[in-house]
Amino acid sequence: MSHYLDHAATTPLRAEARDAWLNAAAQVGNPSSVHAAGRRARAIVDDAREQIAAALGAHPTEVILTSGATEANNLALASASGPIITTATEHHSALDPARAHGAVEIGVGADGVVDMGALVLELPRAGLVSVQWVNNEVGTVQPVGAVVAAAADAGVPVHSDAVQAVGHLEVDFGASGLTTMAVSAHKVGGPVGVGALVARRDASLTPLALGGGQQRGRSGTLDAPGAAAFAAALEKTVGERAAESARLHALRNRLLAGVAAVPDAVVAGPAEGVAPHILNVVFPGARAEAILFALDQVGLEVSSGSACTAGVVDASHVLLAMGYSAGDASAAIRISTGHTSDDADIEALLAALPTAVAQARAASQ
Ligand code: PMP
Repeated sequence: MSHYLDHAATTPLRAEARDAWLNAAAQVGNPSSVHAAGRRARAIVDDAREQIAAALGAHPTEVILTSGATEANNLALASASGPIITTATEHHSALDPARAHGAVEIGVGADGVVDMGALVLELPRAGLVSVQWVNNEVGTVQPVGAVVAAAADAGVPVHSDAVQAVGHLEVDFGASGLTTMAVSAHKVGGPVGVGALVARRDASLTPLALGGGQQRGRSGTLDAPGAAAFAAALEKTVGERAAESARLHALRNRLLAGVAAVPDAVVAGPAEGVAPHILNVVFPGARAEAILFALDQVGLEVSSGSACTAGVVDASHVLLAMGYSAGDASAAIRISTGHTSDDADIEALLAALPTAVAQARAASQ
């Protein structure tokens, strides 16, 4: 039996999402066609957009459906009207397009929290600030409210990658003061390949691809089944979010206590103010891929958090920015829980971890 503990990478499809997808996919119709079939498809998209907007505290016209959060982040950053300020620990789908625009990368503390003083100093020169809501490797929650407040004083719009936040923290786009926000369906139990850029109506967007202009700044045939499935998954996720967060916090605390039994284990990330579903642990002297391999052998599916090139885990740019050495930044595993996780998953992992780490350390001697 396997134990899936990689929900931050992707979480199992929810039954509600699968049903909504199958229902919508059983019907023909391009949502942009004017005939009855097209209008039926359009109605599916409109309903989905309303559901998504309601779940995120947005207006339906603010929801731009995309192929995922990678596209949404790219669209937001391509729309910057001037120099971009971002953090050194963004997900690559927000970091790399920011870098392509020559962004200034603000450092983070040992807890992964952005250096607000340094960020504020850069604001007078900025055209856009991009700060993720929750870090996908270590779970750090960024002070998005404080960033928005500081940026508002300087008249600078703020974009946030909220992919890892929406399932676990209260996210209200309208109340947040953000100008744009990226979300992804497959992190909340929807299908892969669907997401949204939530963009205030006064945000001007620079298209990434030119075409039929189906949505503001975003061309391409609307994906009615994908939209319906995303909406169903998001509604379910947000509906149970408060209870799930408390449940996952308890699982995380159990993990934290158990991980301490592994010699020299170092928990990366803040002690407080952390997302409930992510725990990152550095095992100095072990290579992450060796730990992952040993765990996988016994049916435990966790991740390294950072990218893996040809079977070797790269040093995590997030851990490096938090001050870890290159060795330690290649020795971290990310355990992430979600809607199907339970005590048995945690106990199985804790039972296997000491041996897996010992084997990995022996292998790297
Ligand atoms: N941002 C964050 C924080 C993520 O965790 C991910 C998924 N790994 C993405 C963006 C990219 O989302 P998608 O897979 O929908 O392109």
